[in-house]
Amino acid sequence: MTIISNCQRIESRIQDSVATVNRHADEVTCVAVTKQRPVADLQALYEVGYRHFGENRPEGLLEKQSACQQEDIKWHFIGSLQTRKVKQIINQIDYLHSLDRESLAKEINKRAERPVACFVQVNVSGETSKSGVSPERLESFIDELAIYPNVLVVGLMTMAPIEANANELSVYFKRLKSLQEEIAAKKLSFAPCTQTSMGMSGDYQIAIQEGASFVRIGSAFFD
Ligand SMILES: *Cc1c(COP(=O)(O)O)cnc(C)c1O
Repeated sequence: MTIISNCQRIESRIQDSVATVNRHADEVTCVAVTKQRPVADLQALYEVGYRHFGENRPEGLLEKQSACQQEDIKWHFIGSLQTRKVKQIINQIDYLHSLDRESLAKEINKRAERPVACFVQVNVSGETSKSGVSPERLESFIDELAIYPNVLVVGLMTMAPIEANANELSVYFKRLKSLQEEIAAKKLSFAPCTQTSMGMSGDYQIAIQEGASFVRIGSAFFD
């Protein structure tokens, strides 16, 4: 029952957030993050209508996939990905949210059997503990990806610092949105970059107000 009532609360908050900025609810996709949760939780969310699921470890992803074989599920890999683990998952996922280095792009290109939809992870806050490309390096990083036909940059992803207040969160998410628009304006065939992946349980309402197209929500479904 908790999951159902949490879903209702999340959905109504998403509705409120899009409404305040005159966006449409169908512009926002909620990725339900089921990492470290049992398969039954994913199944419960599927029953309610969720189709996008996120995992942050290869083992967790593969375990959920073997238990949940519904063909209409879209699988998102949201965690940092070690180069040596690329081959385990790259042909099993619909989106990768954590492209943050050229060596990873090179390995994806080598192992993928088709172009993979990737978000480039950007460290907008500059925290040294966070992975991600710096805003200053972003443009040249994306240019380097032109030689990898199996890497398709569909957007940019960020994680805001946990301790950020609402004003700071707005600043970080605005920054990611404007970087995304700058890349999109270049109309690169290998980097259409029309999407943003930002916002988690604690900050998805702000992210949506700042233009998020994908929010990644975990604990708010289960707490
Ligand atoms: C765990 C995780 C989330 C979801 O976090 P919650 O705070 O539980 O909503 C989103 N994105 C990434 C990259 C994560 O690792």
